[in-house]
Amino acid sequence: MKKVYLFQEGKREMGAVLGNKGAQLCEMSRMGIPVPPGFVITTKTCVEYLRKKRLPKPLKNEISQALEVLERQTGKKFGDAKNPLLVSVRSGAPISMPGMMDTILNIGLTDEMVEHIARNRKQQKWIYDCYRRFIQMFSDVVLGVPREEFERELARIKKREGVEKDYELSPKALKEVIGRYSKILKKHGVTIPPTPEEQLYAAIVSVFESWNTPRAKKYREINNIPPDLGTGVVVQAMVYGNKNERSGTGVVFTRNPANGKKEMYGEYLMYAQGEDIVSGARTPHPIHHLKEELPSIYTQLRKICRKVEHHFKDMQDMEFTIQDGTLYILQTRTGKRTAAAAIKIAVDMVKEKLITKKEALLRVKTSDIEKMLHPIIDPKADYTVIAHGLNASPGAASGKVIFDTDKAAAAGKQGQKVILVREETTPDDIHGVAYSQGVLTTRGGMTSHAAVVARGMGKPCVVGCEAIRIHRNKKQCSIGSIIIREGDIITIDGSTGEVIKGEVPLIPPRYTAATKQLLSWADEVKKLGVRANASTPEGAQLARELGAKGIGLCRTERMFNASDRLPIMREMILAQTRKERKKALEKLLPLQKNDFKKILRIMESLPVTIRLLDIPLHEFLPSHEELLQEINYLRDFKAVMKAMQEFPHILHLLDPKLEEYAEPIERFLNEMKKKRYQDVDEKLLEEKTAILAKVRSLEEVNPMLGHRGVRLGITYPEIYEMQIRAIYEASAELIKEGVDIHPEIMVPQVCTAQELKWVFRRVRKIAREVEHKYGIKIPIKFGTMIEVVRACMRAGKLAEVAEFFSFGTNDLSQATFSFSREDAENKFLPLYTKRGILQDNPFAILDQKGVGRLMMITIEWGRKTRPDLKIGVCGEQGGEPSSIHFCHKIGIDYVSCSPFRVAVARLAAAQAALEN
Ligand code: ADP
Ligand code: MG
Ligand code: MG
Repeated sequence: MKKVYLFQEGKREMGAVLGNKGAQLCEMSRMGIPVPPGFVITTKTCVEYLRKKRLPKPLKNEISQALEVLERQTGKKFGDAKNPLLVSVRSGAPISMPGMMDTILNIGLTDEMVEHIARNRKQQKWIYDCYRRFIQMFSDVVLGVPREEFERELARIKKREGVEKDYELSPKALKEVIGRYSKILKKHGVTIPPTPEEQLYAAIVSVFESWNTPRAKKYREINNIPPDLGTGVVVQAMVYGNKNERSGTGVVFTRNPANGKKEMYGEYLMYAQGEDIVSGARTPHPIHHLKEELPSIYTQLRKICRKVEHHFKDMQDMEFTIQDGTLYILQTRTGKRTAAAAIKIAVDMVKEKLITKKEALLRVKTSDIEKMLHPIIDPKADYTVIAHGLNASPGAASGKVIFDTDKAAAAGKQGQKVILVREETTPDDIHGVAYSQGVLTTRGGMTSHAAVVARGMGKPCVVGCEAIRIHRNKKQCSIGSIIIREGDIITIDGSTGEVIKGEVPLIPPRYTAATKQLLSWADEVKKLGVRANASTPEGAQLARELGAKGIGLCRTERMFNASDRLPIMREMILAQTRKERKKALEKLLPLQKNDFKKILRIMESLPVTIRLLDIPLHEFLPSHEELLQEINYLRDFKAVMKAMQEFPHILHLLDPKLEEYAEPIERFLNEMKKKRYQDVDEKLLEEKTAILAKVRSLEEVNPMLGHRGVRLGITYPEIYEMQIRAIYEASAELIKEGVDIHPEIMVPQVCTAQELKWVFRRVRKIAREVEHKYGIKIPIKFGTMIEVVRACMRAGKLAEVAEFFSFGTNDLSQATFSFSREDAENKFLPLYTKRGILQDNPFAILDQKGVGRLMMITIEWGRKTRPDLKIGVCGEQGGEPSSIHFCHKIGIDYVSCSPFRVAVARLAAAQAALEN
């Protein structure tokens, strides 16, 4: 089995074998992009090494052969003091794990070689710098000597020499640095292998081992990367950004990863080597600066960006190095981007004919659409910005300031809203970022670790906010004279870079033009209809704006909860006789009719499914406890008042001078003076007592399985009759106005065909009356919810009456599992999913094997009776992508979800259609 591939032997499709970095480097070499020559050791070899813990002999042979080719290609020799070939040893997994594993640069030098090369004055500074970088990196990565110790020495000498930047050090000073580094190694009792060859092997082993570092494991866990892929190892001839002032290094995105704009975007540093740019030690220049500094390099880079992007057909994130005025490309990969950028880039690339609409639709993730719904700061809000940083990842977030990563992660896990605030982040901070609402750093640029990671996770992030000073020991930070303590709330806006003290109201954002475009393409290909659950005119308006093609669930009980309705509803419930009840319902009718008119008008030309009253009546009354409390209070008050009348002197006994009690006594006395015994509202007390009696009579052991839905409709026919009439009259009036409406009446909780027929007879009767009254035909569809297991089993029979079914997957899942949803989610479901007893929470993700199976049977039997039976889903799961795929597959006509999930559902439905 071949273990080593020269760059010219590999290609992009070999990512699994060579790792992503290696495969892309191979591909670029083939394309004629200026890539320093190199070779790749396969991922399989890594896996093999991790098992056997030693480098096999054949591998060493293959490496030597490959090195010989590199020597020919570069005209240099590995281990040769006259003309040394130095290499980098780089990690690169099949799925990119940026910054997670190790890389070592400048391998191939020994003390003697360096001394020899340094005899040439012109080479002195460069070779000393390479060597001290090598010692530092090798010791850190392979020998485990803390990097800080080297940095401290370096800083000390820079200070003594009075220079600020590494490259300002004289050769002599650099030589001294190397001497000090050797002392550090001695102190730790470690040595660097004496020959270049051994250094190379040790570096390779160390890269293999880095596959299993805790932080790499953590990253894989968070990103769902399989643990057994192994990493490829790239061995590549060095090019030197630290050669002279005409050299440098940088990173460039072929498009703006924050907003997707078609422009080069990145940063670079002159007189520097690879790692300097991410380390944050020096502040890099924005890429457009290169246009002035090295115009021909800038032009060349732009051409390469276009070419590589065109080849890979996606936005690229590239590393480059300039060596003495010559440009080299060291890496390219698909660039991480914000959700907004992902959508814009996909849409733009279709317009540029780089990809097809289908590719664009499959490329954008439903989670990107979801992230676009990240809150933004309410434009009407009034707030003061205390600091400005770089707008690294869009969206706004508020939360408690926490400076410590572990602490932030722990608080976030408990559901607290946290903003992680740090000087900068490293791969060790990933879990802190994952559990925070947003990240704020005081250092670093747009390609710093915090920025890249936050963008990947879709978290708001502000970086490089230099005005903020963190005082870790005091657990606070300051901006000028403003002090913010750990636990204080701040708001960050990753779209503008603003930092605000305290909480600011956030609102959901509007779709961008690109999002609208993408979703309109989604609508062209999807088979599944997407409606929204909306119960008010405002909700209907929002649903329509967000692209819902109708309302799949309009809950009429929501209308009764409005403050002008609730008292009438209570009057109806408390009515002693049917006549009284009817009177109350008559007052509700025009209100409800008006709501229906508004909603139907907003939804002109689209279907609106109106569900008759579903919830048990007691939900419209105050709770038992609440009532008892009020009644007890009234009674106590009455008793106290009575006592005071009988013993007026009691008041004088209370002495407000008793310091401890002064305040409450004062308050009590004031209250007493205001009210009189007769003020105790006997009527109120009576009324409350009556309501309590009613609440008691309505009480059920298991209200969700009790007197609700159609059962309520049958026991109190006046209620449904009123609702049905309101729907018909609203429709009649709109039809007369010429509005194109499509109302549907839906009955909840049905379990027998007799129930449905009973309601249907009422509907027919009222329809005839209203049609007669208005002198027109009023076409309204009639159908049923399917949310009871028995209804599934009687689907054939129900379809004789019902023109449509709508699966209420919340209740149906509840009924299928016999789990009460709230209790399940609070008590045992988390453990069930954690232990793998259930894969997912069935109330969030449709249980395809159980509930889904029932749905399939229902559909089959229902359509046997009525082939054109329309079938929808109106549970929570209707907006969840994997459930949507399933709905598409089993022949559901439409899903209905919350308005905010409509966009996600539209894309998911399109993807389902495209993937089938
Ligand atoms: P990471 O995966 O952490 O980005 P890389 O292997 O890409 O690690 O390397 C780290 C840095 O070193 C990058 O900036 C890269 O461009 C630079 N680098 C790697 N190999 C070479 C080389 N042969 N010559 C010059 N710079 C290199
Ligand atoms: Mg890299
Ligand atoms: Mg229900």
